[in-house]
Amino acid sequence: MGAPFGIYVHWPYCARICPYCDFNIYKHKGQPGDDLTAAIIQDLQHWRDMTGPRTVSSIHFGGGTPSLMRADHIEQIIDAASALWSFAGDIEIGLEANPADADAAKWALYGGAGINRLSVGVQSFDNQVLAFLGRDHDADQARRALDLAARNFPRVSADLIFGHRGQTLADWDADLDKALASGAGHISAYQLTIEAQTAFGKAAQRGDVKAVDGDDSAALYERSQTRLTDAGFEHYEVSNYARPGQESRHNKIYWLGGDYAGVGPGAHGRLTTPNGRIATVAHMTPAAYIKGAQDGPSLQERDVLSPADHGNEFVMMGLRLTGGFDEAAYRQISGQALNARAAADLCAMGLLARKGSRIAATELGRMLLDTITRELLS
Ligand code: SF4
Repeated sequence: MGAPFGIYVHWPYCARICPYCDFNIYKHKGQPGDDLTAAIIQDLQHWRDMTGPRTVSSIHFGGGTPSLMRADHIEQIIDAASALWSFAGDIEIGLEANPADADAAKWALYGGAGINRLSVGVQSFDNQVLAFLGRDHDADQARRALDLAARNFPRVSADLIFGHRGQTLADWDADLDKALASGAGHISAYQLTIEAQTAFGKAAQRGDVKAVDGDDSAALYERSQTRLTDAGFEHYEVSNYARPGQESRHNKIYWLGGDYAGVGPGAHGRLTTPNGRIATVAHMTPAAYIKGAQDGPSLQERDVLSPADHGNEFVMMGLRLTGGFDEAAYRQISGQALNARAAADLCAMGLLARKGSRIAATELGRMLLDTITRELLS
């Protein structure tokens, strides 16, 4: 069946633009989405020309807010993909959902279209925090969305954000308690980051908004680890926890350095070819993307990564996973060795651990990944 191959579908529209968001997004103004769906399907055909026959192990609808999509559009895209490639028997087809879009009839149709994993963007169960984050749902809607997701999809993730200014360990415990009580088999706990070009970034420059300080953020991060692993979840990636068998198979393709097509405005893709590993970025605006898909892959960038860049990406991604990365595979990809002195020092400091030819960040090391990666690759 070959190496796992995924398809990422970016649906760029959002009902409201959250002040911390730096994704490629556009305000949803009731666009029907027919033209974008048709362009995504055309683009999949162009991608099939690039990939040749492969077995698709996952499809992920991200955004943006793909829960604004019509179920028939989702079905058309899945059907088009299944006509172009073969599907693995245990294919994961996931979609990111905003609790405000929870609707029994619509989600039943999503399930009928083939969606078998839903990531619910809960963010918090505290109404004040949700208001601060600019979300258009409240805690009751988040709880109802998780209940409805559990009734319609075999696999559910509850996605949370921590690290807003003033958040206490007790506040975070309350969110984690509710996520655990929901029965979701997967929990993502992302730290709030303030990016310069966002509304929060501008407010931060004026001194109006702050994220928590480093020590507080480390304490919140450690609390997630303790609480979720005590509850039987494996901390399999920096920000992700899963009960056995519930990991995101799609995201693991990214972290393990696998191949994936990226369709939809601004989507990224990676493809291993005899000429090297290709990194792609789709045209960013919906209009440019739709136009671009008419004649060939709708790409604004298509670069062959140098062996060094490919190796760097392999290490950066692999260190996010509990299992780390294979050093021999790194040498083969990059044609060079890691900084052995730095690797030994980082192991001695308890930030890295070796197991056979694999190197992984320890729980402590996961909080310092940027520094570790820089040292290892220096
Ligand atoms: S709903 Fe998600 S993608 Fe859309 S603006 Fe908010 S954080 Fe960004």
